[in-house]
Amino acid sequence: MSSKSAPGPWDRAPWDMLRARSGFRLEDLDRASTPGWDEGKNRAADRLEDLGEEMSGLQERLYAHGRTNGHRRVLLVLQGLDTAGKGGIARHVIGLVDPQGVALRSFGRPTEEELAHHYLWRIRNALPPGGRIGVFDRSHYEDVLVVRVEGLVPEATWQARYAEINAFEAEVAASGTRIIKCALMVSHEEQGARLLERLDRPEKHWKYSPGDLPTRLRWDDYQEAYQAVFDRTSTDVAPWYVIPADHKWYVRLAVAELLTRTLREMDLAWPAADFDVAAERAKLLATMTADHRSIESEDEDNGARRRRNG
Ligand code: ATP
Repeated sequence: MSSKSAPGPWDRAPWDMLRARSGFRLEDLDRASTPGWDEGKNRAADRLEDLGEEMSGLQERLYAHGRTNGHRRVLLVLQGLDTAGKGGIARHVIGLVDPQGVALRSFGRPTEEELAHHYLWRIRNALPPGGRIGVFDRSHYEDVLVVRVEGLVPEATWQARYAEINAFEAEVAASGTRIIKCALMVSHEEQGARLLERLDRPEKHWKYSPGDLPTRLRWDDYQEAYQAVFDRTSTDVAPWYVIPADHKWYVRLAVAELLTRTLREMDLAWPAADFDVAAERAKLLATMTADHRSIESEDEDNGARRRRNG
C-alpha cells in the first residue's frame, strides 16, 4: 500500500496495517508498537482533536438520517482482556461526539434471563437504532472467548458459533450497518503493571476485581481463543482490527481513525426537508417585525453561507 493513501501524518493507513487478514498471527504482534504512526504521543493528541471535530460533523449527519427514518447505523465492537483500554475508548473517542447519537452497551456475565435465551438474543436487542453509533463494550465474542476458555458449554456448541456469528453479522450488515470490530491487545507485562496500579491506588480499587487474576492465569488460552476469532470471523462485511494496546494514546487514535473513516465512507447527505422550505420561510418572516425582516434580508448572504457551512 502506498503512503499516498495514508491519512494525515500516518505513514500507512491504519485500516490497512491493523486489519486481521488470513495468515495473521497474534503471537507476532508487538503490543508496544504503534504501527503506521511515528509521530509520538503529542501529535497523536492533536490528530485526535482534529478527528473529533470531523467525527462530530459526520455523526450529526448520521443522527439526522436516523431522525428522518433512515436505517443506516454503525456498530463498533470492542474486545480485549482486562485493562486493555475499552473504557478509555468510550470516554476519549466516543466522548468526542454528541451522546444523543450514541448507543453504548456493556456485556457482562449473562443474567438468568439472558441465559434462558440464545446467546445472540441480548446482542440483537442491543443493536443501535438507525442513525446511531452503537458501541459494544464486550460482545457476542465473549461466547467464543471466556465461554471457550472456561468450558462453559460443550466444545461442539462453541465450535458452531463462529459460523453462526458470521451469518448474524452478515445479516446485520445487510440491514444497513457498518460493523467495525476492534481487538485491543495489551501485553502480559503491561496488563500486570496496570492491574498492580489498580491495587496500589485506592481511587482505582473500584476498577479491580479479584476475578481478573484467574483470567490472567489463563493468558495463553485466551490468546489461542482470540487467534481463532481472528482466523474465523474477520470478514469483508465485519473485519477485525487488531490494535496493539500498550500505549493507550495509540489505541484511541487508531479507533478514532477507523470510526471517522467509516463515517466518511457512508457519505451521508443532509436529509431533504419534507416540507416546503420557501413557504415556511415566508410564513416565518410574517411573524417577525419589519426591522428584523430587513436585517434578515440584508443579511441574506451571511445566512446562506451559514446554512451551507452548517
Ligand atoms: P470490564 O472487565 O469489561 O471492565 P467488569 O470487570 O466491570 O467489566 P462486567 O462488565 O460486569 O465486569 O463483566 C465482565 C465480565 O463478564 C468479563 O469477565 C467477561 O468475560 C464476562 N462475560 C461477558 N460475557 C460473557 C458470557 N457470554 N459468558 C460468560 N461470561 C461473560
